[in-house]
Amino acid sequence: MPETSEQSAVSGRRFDTVLIANRGEIAARIQRACRELGLTTVAICSEADREAPYGSTADSFLCIGPSSAAKSYLNQDAILLAARLTGAGAIHPGYGFLSENAAFADAVEKAGLVFIGPTASSIATMGDKIAAKRAMMAAGVPCVPGPDTALPDDPASVERLALEIGYPVIIKASGGGGGRGMRVVPKADQLNEAIALTREEARKAFGSPSLYMEKFLQHPRHIEIQVLCDDQGNAVWLGHRDCSMQRRHQKVVEEAPAPGIAPDIIRPVGMACVEACRQIGYRGVGTFEFLYEDGAFYFIEMNTRLQVEHPVTEMTSGVDILQAQIKVAQGEVLNLIQSEVICEGHSFECRINAEDPDSFLPSAGIITRLALPQGPGIRVDTHIHAGYKVSPYYDSLIAKLIVHAPTRAKAMARMCEALAGTEIKEIATNIPFLRALFEDHAFARGETDIHYLEQWLKLRR
Ligand code: ADP
Repeated sequence: MPETSEQSAVSGRRFDTVLIANRGEIAARIQRACRELGLTTVAICSEADREAPYGSTADSFLCIGPSSAAKSYLNQDAILLAARLTGAGAIHPGYGFLSENAAFADAVEKAGLVFIGPTASSIATMGDKIAAKRAMMAAGVPCVPGPDTALPDDPASVERLALEIGYPVIIKASGGGGGRGMRVVPKADQLNEAIALTREEARKAFGSPSLYMEKFLQHPRHIEIQVLCDDQGNAVWLGHRDCSMQRRHQKVVEEAPAPGIAPDIIRPVGMACVEACRQIGYRGVGTFEFLYEDGAFYFIEMNTRLQVEHPVTEMTSGVDILQAQIKVAQGEVLNLIQSEVICEGHSFECRINAEDPDSFLPSAGIITRLALPQGPGIRVDTHIHAGYKVSPYYDSLIAKLIVHAPTRAKAMARMCEALAGTEIKEIATNIPFLRALFEDHAFARGETDIHYLEQWLKLRR
């Protein structure tokens, strides 16, 4: 068959060497996926990570800067230089660090490399929460009640708007992220002060004073939808996850599927997400985050990157999300249609953090003894080994324990066993806390809301 211009454009995105612009468990995971696809890998590190095990298994390994993330994993110039020196054709940003930085995605592509992720303009749209909400409303994705426009300056109009939505409302910074830049307003007499404070915070932290308002939901669950798209308009959703077990907006345990949500309730939401991806020309993997309350879904944000919790969806859908992400970045057509996506069984993920199980303060030091669980339906994503030094510079995630079983109850039993079979000494980890949580009856019944974990922790004190 003669090559069409479209096919040659596609082959222009081909690469055979991937620079992994991240660290820790996800650097190891990305490297594995690349190797399985026959790609050459470049690992990078900061001075604190010189001994990282994924360094010795990569084809090239470069130290790109000091321990501080700002001078290494967030240093765009150093990463682009490393790519040039090693002949990398693509950069995988992982999660966190530069993964949702539109300017970086743009700089990578301008340097003639492939950014393994969506276009810079998709990242920018979804990073602006008002623009994201507008795009989602236009595509028919259900959103939290409230307008898709910035709050006006005039106090009387704002007060009218809050009354229309109904208290309590939440004021959010359009450029906010990481759980910052939002404030709940229970009553009308607190509205003006809340707006002034949030605006000032937004200006300082995110460089934009733009705010918007929506209904504050009081007992929602956090449900999310995983999507996978190529750059030719093909898109699928790979099922849903429940990430309601959170402490200070940080996810602790994730599961797939979300318990107690009937397929005919979630299917239209998944299909609306797929439609939204087509409308915005989304490419790669992404996650639509929803709050779910009283049987209804409300979009809150889209993450334009791979997520920490992607393994639970891999376990239930059987799709290797990382490999699929790399293949579509190479311009390959998605080799999956929606009717072929079949999610089976139940999966849990526990984030094993190097932190005190009671105070949650981070712990650092050398791992003197390590035993990891094994057996059917157990997966451990990690970079640690006996003798590994956990550094204080980065987030405390050191391993992800993932299980899969035919039912939720069996998956819970399997996680209890897996946690019991995990030994990490002499640093403190949250394993005792996770073991207690997996013995909890309300959690076992399922359908607990996003406040459950913090309430449970208070009761245990
Ligand atoms: P960020 O980008 O900072 O993570 P999100 O919009 O994802 O911000 O919201 C973070 C968290 O704040 C949510 O997981 C939820 O717990 C809470 N939240 C956000 N919007 C609402 C809302 N309308 N009602 C209730 N809780 C909300």
